[in-house]
Order: sequence, then structure tokens, then C-alpha cells
Amino acid sequence: MERYYVEKCPRCGGRVIEKEVTEVLYGGVNTAILRVKAGVCLLCGERLYAPEIVRKFEDIEMKLEQQKTAEFKPLGRSYQVVF
Ligand SMILES: [Zn+2]
Repeated sequence: MERYYVEKCPRCGGRVIEKEVTEVLYGGVNTAILRVKAGVCLLCGERLYAPEIVRKFEDIEMKLEQQKTAEFKPLGRSYQVVF
């Protein structure tokens, strides 16, 4: 898999290191949580993803939106709480 591709943060110029991060994706009423490798800026925390990862995110968000979630592992239920 392709790695993040810059060593300097485009936002602040800080050093970028590779890290495994938890990303939450939303589509419609559905949510997906995934662990992915990202470039993370040590100064401002900006996350940088390889273009193929971004495409994967878009694909997952579209599937969430269209309720095509059969391939995803259920984690539990989400609740809306009204005060
Ligand atoms: Zn930065």
C-alpha cells in the first residue's frame, strides 16, 4: 500500500510522521470506524492521506449513504439522544 507522500506539513511546515490513526466516516445515518495509516503532523496534528486512501474513504462513505453495509462488521448500535 502506498504511504503518505510528504515529509513537511502543507499547513504549518511541521514534520510529518507515519502513524496509525482512527478515522470516523459518515454517510447518511451510518458511521464507520477504521484504523488507517496516515501522515500526521507533529506540530498541528494535520492528517495527510495517500490519494488511494482518500478514494477508499469516498467509496466507504458512498456505501454507508446507500446502506450497502453488508461487507462491514457491525460494532453495535448508534443512538440519537434528544434532551
Ligand atoms: Zn502541521
